[in-house]
Order: sequence, then structure tokens, then C-alpha cells
Amino acid sequence: MVLQYLAAEHLARGPDGQKRQASQPANIREATIMTSALAHAQNLIRCRSVTPDEGGALAYLESQLGAVGFTCHRLPFSERRTPDVDNLYARIGEGSPHVCFAGHIDVVAPGDEAAWRHQPFTAEIDDGILYGRGAVDMKGAVAASLAATLLFLLESGGAPKGSISFLMTADEEGPAINGTRKVVDWLLKRGERPDCCILGECTSEAAVGDTIKIGRRGSLSGELRVRGVQGHVAYPHKARNPLPPLIDALNLLKTKQLDSGSTHFQPSNFEITSIDTGNKAHNVIPATATARFNVRFNDHHTSDNLKGWIESQVQAALLDTGVDYALDYEPASESFMTDPGGFVQKLSAAIEAETHREPLLSTGGGTSDARFIKDLCPVVEVGLLNATAHKVDECVPVADLDRLTQIYTRFLRLALP
Ligand SMILES: [Zn+2]
Repeated sequence: MVLQYLAAEHLARGPDGQKRQASQPANIREATIMTSALAHAQNLIRCRSVTPDEGGALAYLESQLGAVGFTCHRLPFSERRTPDVDNLYARIGEGSPHVCFAGHIDVVAPGDEAAWRHQPFTAEIDDGILYGRGAVDMKGAVAASLAATLLFLLESGGAPKGSISFLMTADEEGPAINGTRKVVDWLLKRGERPDCCILGECTSEAAVGDTIKIGRRGSLSGELRVRGVQGHVAYPHKARNPLPPLIDALNLLKTKQLDSGSTHFQPSNFEITSIDTGNKAHNVIPATATARFNVRFNDHHTSDNLKGWIESQVQAALLDTGVDYALDYEPASESFMTDPGGFVQKLSAAIEAETHREPLLSTGGGTSDARFIKDLCPVVEVGLLNATAHKVDECVPVADLDRLTQIYTRFLRLALP
């Protein structure tokens, strides 16, 4: 109660440090409301922040954080042929340790809104479950990190021992060009590096906190185009069909095992995603055939050595076939992993204390903004369950929001003692 009173006093001061003209009971109520992850999650879900619109969600976070003394920077970025995107970086404290909560407040489109049991942007609660787009991916986790931070500030009399920051974007579900990537660059230019970062992506599988993502595999997408000679199927000796050599090359790439995994990573895999000739006729040998592929790779490889390996396999397969080929690649992302010691141990301890279960340290799954944050500081991901992410009726049990808030709060107590 004393802590809450102190916090209420703190919260009652405006950004200029001047005391507001509000009555004491109202301030205490304000403090009580502000530590509820549910209230924050509802307020965030009610912002229609479909990528790339922030829909008022960043403004909401800015007002909440600014009110308790965070220095806030709105960081709108733009680039040709991509939508402008707004971002928020907010920090309280100047010292270390510096804990950063990262996340995105943009959401994927709801699809057919009539198919939802509860409207996607009204944040209704039904039988202890909060419904809405972004409930788990990832406004719920953003709300939990906000509630945890405010709770922790209440405990520490309004000022943390080190620093706490929020790195929030409206461009995670989209092209991810004007979002976290550029905020990271902005921070690097300022020489501002957190000591650790928790990204609240929905990484949990069966229970909140059962999985911490400590890294991700790399991803390399490419295209192999084989050029032969077009002709009539009845006169194959006058044509050169590009399909058999293309299939041979793909077969070689697909059947060779890249590795058998490593300590924290599953084996790398080469996947064929498309084979196409654009040929609609039954009696024409096509001139070209194109295959697309993606490699998800672990720490045994880099995208450059994989490109070399792919080239050598294709050359071997196409030797003496008389066809030409070209290989093109999309920009690749490399694998990365955060040291499972250090702050990851503290996070695991926080989870274990809250859930009585040791979390699994995983590097599985797809990509996230952690691929950019890793250039700034060690980063891990722990958030809500991913079962309903991007689906109709996306939802989160209110108890899960509370549990995640407790995990984050316990972590702050361990990281900023
Ligand atoms: Zn997400």
C-alpha cells in the first residue's frame, strides 16, 4: 500500500515534474489501473493498427510511458516504394543494466470480420478469454511488458536502478524495412546499446513461458533458371528440354544432407517451393524452367558458403547437358544465437519461479525482428501461446496475460536488483 501511494505520488507528476491538480484517490486508482495487463491489452487491441498503421497504439504507449517519466522518441521512417512507418523508442534511467522490451503493435488484417465470434477490434472478454486481433501476436505481450514495468517502477519508487526501454514498431508483419531495423540503426548511431532485450513474440507452445527462443536459423531463398531450346514434343532431338536437368539438379540438392543439427539447432533443410515453365501447351518443349527454393540453415553454415555449395551441385548435375543456367538470390538472413548463460539464465529463473517449469531453449520457427535486434544486443523471445496467432478469433486467456506479466516482473527484479 505504501508503494502504491509512492507510485501514485510519482504518477501524479507531469512530464515537467510539476504536481498535477488531481485528487489523491483518483491518482491511486490511476496507478492501480495502469498495472493491469488486461486493461492495456484491451486499449491496444481497440487501436486498428493493421500494418503499417499504428492506429493510435504507439500514441497510447507513449502516453503511458511518458506519464511515468520515460523519455519518448517517435521515429517515423520512410523509404521509396515502401509505406512510411512510425516507431517508438522510450527509455527511463541512464545507467546499466539496461533492459529493453521490444515488440510490434501492428497486426495482420482480420480477414472476414463476420467470421469472428467477437469483433476483432472491440477486445471483448468471454469466459475469461480476451478476443481480438493481436491478442497473442503481440499486443498482449506488449501490454504485459508495460504492466510489468509499471509494477516494477511502483516497487522501486518510480525509478529503476539501471534502465528500462521500449522499442516498438508498426512494421513487423509487413516489409519490415522502416521498422525495428531502422530503429536499431538509429540506436547504434547514438551509441545506445541495451544490455539485453526481450522480444515478446508468441513463442510459447502449450503453456506461457514453456519456450524461450534464443536464436533463429538463417534463411536463404533463391531461384534456379535453366535455359534449353524450345521445340515440338514429337521432335525432341531438335529441342533441348530444360526440365530433366533442372530436376536432376534439384534432386541432388534435396537428397544431400546438409548437416545433422548442432547443440541448439535442428538440422538445416533445403526445400523446393516451386517449379514452373509457364508452358500451357501439351505439345511444346519449353525453352526455360525455373525452380524456387529456400534453405533454413543452422550455425554450421553461412548464406555465402551455402551459395557456393548450391552452385557446385548445380554445375555437377548440369555437366554435359548443354543447357545454361542462372542462380539468383533474395537477401539472406544469417543464423544467430544468444548465449544461453547470462541474462537468459535470469529469465529462465524468473519463468521457473513463476511456472515451476524449466523453459525449453529453442531456435526453431520462422524469422522475427530478433534478426535485427541481435546486431544491437543479446536478444531472446518469450511471449504468449502462438496457437491462435493470425487466425480468426485470435484470443488469450486473461490468466495468461497475468502470468506473462509476472514472468516479466520477476525478470526485472532479477536483472535490475
Ligand atoms: Zn508477431
